[in-house]
Amino acid sequence: MSLLDQTGQSLVSVFYNFISTVHGTCNHPIHLVWNKQLPPKVQFFSWLAWKYKLKTSVFLQRIGILDGSASTLCIFCQEQQETAEHVLISCHLVWKVWTGLLQWWGTTWVVPNSVSNLLLWWSGFDCRKSERRIWNAIPLVTLWSIWKHRNECLFQASSPNLQELQELIVTRIAIWLKAASTKLHFSINDFLYNISAIRHCINEG
Ligand SMILES: [Zn+2]
Repeated sequence: MSLLDQTGQSLVSVFYNFISTVHGTCNHPIHLVWNKQLPPKVQFFSWLAWKYKLKTSVFLQRIGILDGSASTLCIFCQEQQETAEHVLISCHLVWKVWTGLLQWWGTTWVVPNSVSNLLLWWSGFDCRKSERRIWNAIPLVTLWSIWKHRNECLFQASSPNLQELQELIVTRIAIWLKAASTKLHFSINDFLYNISAIRHCINEG
């Protein structure tokens, strides 16, 4: 399905505007998910994850697409069943990525038990309005990047490398946010290694 209608307007954008009208402008995961500063593929994937619509191995086996003898173990740890919550959040290897990102930002959290609770916690997190553009991008880019890496490991026989993934996620956040705004004059290295200085600068500005 194309994400552009005949006028070239993003359907994601149209849907976001509709939802904004319905839900108002309060903090709500729906505003986090339809983040117009990120590519439509990232927004759409986050919506699928939020609505429990991901086609995980466990799901595919349950509906008969995957053979009963096929492995449904998590491609990263090879220990637990691949549910959406496991492969995107609670897998101990994936969890290190989330923890690393939270440390990068300078905060800590407790493990949410679902994608919807993760997004709920994220959207309710108290941070300055100027920082929110970066803060709001983190969960979407992370969810999408983890799933992309999962697909590369599953379908292209790549080796899981979740240590590199965290750096890749921050790099993507920097590239996409810089592309969406001319006001972010920071380098990707600044994002990677000096996020506290960026937060200080945008709050001062
Ligand atoms: Zn796992």
